[in-house]
Amino acid sequence: MSRPQFNRILLKLSGEVLMGKNQFGIDPEMVARLAREIAEAKEAGHELCIVVGGGNIYRGIAGAAQGFDRASADYMGMLATVMNSLALQNALEQIGLDTRVQSAIPMATVCEPYIRRRAVRHMEKGRIVIFAAGTGSPYFTTDTTAALRAAEMNCDALFKGTSVDGVYDADPKKVEGAKRYDSLDFNRVLADNLRVMDASAVALCRDNNIPIVVFNIRDEGNLTQVLDGGGTATIVTN
Ligand code: UDP
Repeated sequence: MSRPQFNRILLKLSGEVLMGKNQFGIDPEMVARLAREIAEAKEAGHELCIVVGGGNIYRGIAGAAQGFDRASADYMGMLATVMNSLALQNALEQIGLDTRVQSAIPMATVCEPYIRRRAVRHMEKGRIVIFAAGTGSPYFTTDTTAALRAAEMNCDALFKGTSVDGVYDADPKKVEGAKRYDSLDFNRVLADNLRVMDASAVALCRDNNIPIVVFNIRDEGNLTQVLDGGGTATIVTN
């Protein structure tokens, strides 16, 4: 099934994608490969902005389970996303792309603060904007951040690059014969509690009519294919 093509997109990269073949942290080879694919997407004419997760380094909920105060643990998670964002920025710049990192938690000596109008301006100038530090508030996720920034930046779609090739009716790693959907609607995702993104991210995309495309970004070349409307993915729309 072919999917529509979208011009301005928000790419959400889960932290675990940046681990590559490792169990933790940042794999420079993987980040360099992602950067090359992002460069291809740019060359193909897409306008891109990116939200990077932090789960490869730290998750607030895991920290809270170990006894840290949840809000403090979430701030630690948000800082992890800044590290990932800087790694990706560096890899993109090494291959000549113009980028800016904007952090929702201001850290003036490291990157720009998040300023929506400035981010829009960067995109108009052809720069890739990487949004770091999530929403800047604890108790949220980078999925919700991705939905929020996609709406703020007037993106045509949100592409979620993850380690599975779409949305299934059960966890394909645990349930043999789990069925993958080519397309779904937002209300079905919410009613059936399907694992696409967290519910607040899905609701935000539904209310702002921003399609979500879930695909496996670990497979080399898949980003380009999926952006072209091909490859294997699940699209969620109204
Ligand atoms: N986080 C947060 N507020 C946000 C975004 C992220 O508190 O707006 C924290 C939260 O602790 C989360 C961590 O940052 O666990 C890393 O983000 P996430 O788990 O979404 O990363 P991913 O699963 O995409 O790697």
